[in-house]
Amino acid sequence: MRQSKLFTKTRREAPAGEVAKNAQLLVRAGYIHKEMAGVYSYLPLGRRVLTRIENIVREEMDAIGGQEIRMATLHPSENWKTTGGWDGVDVLFKIQSRTEKEYALGQSEEEIVTPIAQEFVTSYKDLPVALYQIGQKYRDELRAKSGIMRGREFGMKDMYSFHQTQEDFERFYQIVKDAYFRIYKRCGLTAKVTEASGGNFSEKISYEFMVLTDAGEDDIVFCNACEFCANAEVAQVKAGDVCPRCGKENVQAARAVEAGNVFDLGQKYPKAFGFTYKDKEGKAQTPIMGCYGIGTTRLMGTLVEVFADEKGIVWPENVAPFAVHLVSLGQSGDEVAKTADALYEDLTKAGVEVLYDDRDVRAGEKFAESDLLGIPQRIVVGKDAATTGVFEVVSRATGVATNMPRAELLASYIKK
Ligand code: ATP
Ligand code: MG
Repeated sequence: MRQSKLFTKTRREAPAGEVAKNAQLLVRAGYIHKEMAGVYSYLPLGRRVLTRIENIVREEMDAIGGQEIRMATLHPSENWKTTGGWDGVDVLFKIQSRTEKEYALGQSEEEIVTPIAQEFVTSYKDLPVALYQIGQKYRDELRAKSGIMRGREFGMKDMYSFHQTQEDFERFYQIVKDAYFRIYKRCGLTAKVTEASGGNFSEKISYEFMVLTDAGEDDIVFCNACEFCANAEVAQVKAGDVCPRCGKENVQAARAVEAGNVFDLGQKYPKAFGFTYKDKEGKAQTPIMGCYGIGTTRLMGTLVEVFADEKGIVWPENVAPFAVHLVSLGQSGDEVAKTADALYEDLTKAGVEVLYDDRDVRAGEKFAESDLLGIPQRIVVGKDAATTGVFEVVSRATGVATNMPRAELLASYIKK
């Protein structure tokens, strides 16, 4: 895409009152637009990143047999009254119609997915089943100071599974856990999963997928030698204590963000809706249910927080809006611009996603903007490149520059 056609522009100042680094940088670079605290629109560059993240999540959920659906986000209040969520869920947005009828905005979709599953799952032969969607969620969060990491409207992948037995839920949980680790890894992140809280403080068992970052709102303790990880407030150990799991190293404390969550929901929702299926003997049984969330917009914010440097955003390759930022230092019509035009054509033909800075703007300004945008590779076309056919390729993450003759450069992308 030609940058001269991109309708967004970068700006020097973050919006007043925006304290989160992720939102400051994303707004300044033109990825998102702030509507109010905790609510953002996604502009072309931001939409591209989010689509990349969503596609990674989608591929991994499909690979484990998840079936994608799209559920309503405007919910009948009756469903929430049936489960007790209408009065019990503090973050639920409630809407009153001019007809006096009441609705809820989806903050999670157990109230919708359970009746859907109930309609189609009638026999043990229909189980297990896992349904998921990637879409908007609405929550009346009290604090919305973490930019896109804690929104009042935000993106989430939510999957719900139904099983005949607890063992089958646990079997499936292990499969989802592996898929989650693959998702984070493909996004360039390392996640740790907290120990089940074991029902000490709540009737529900949950597993939280944590990514280390100071921008998170959770405190965890973890071990580097094994998989031990727990919420600091419930953990039996504190920083410096010997790991209770492997005994090899001392546990460390860190700030983290919850990038995903799995709940063992038991039979709560099927029971509330009277959802049963017939077992082998023809007896009515209530299914066991699990739910699995990943905050897609929170993941995007986390990536900014984890990788950004003092110059701006640094996207990992798999989620970047473009693979290459081609920066021409020419003026329209001159030899440099023609060389850059030709390279842009060839890269695009080779299937490389290129943002081409073809604007008549000062070089310094272009480089500063390029750093802010955070595209993984920058190819610079200046006078030298136009005369020698050798291009400078700079890695945004490391700053390392490599000079490559045109043919070699094109071949390197075709190989990828
Ligand atoms: P938290 O403790 O951070 O509020 P949660 O336990 O309420 O999270 P879930 O209800 O399990 O979160 O939602 C699933 C996932 O959705 C979370 O793991 C997180 O990644 C994401 N998420 C939750 N709330 C928000 C929010 N307000 N803004 C953005 N993402 C969110
Ligand atoms: Mg919450």
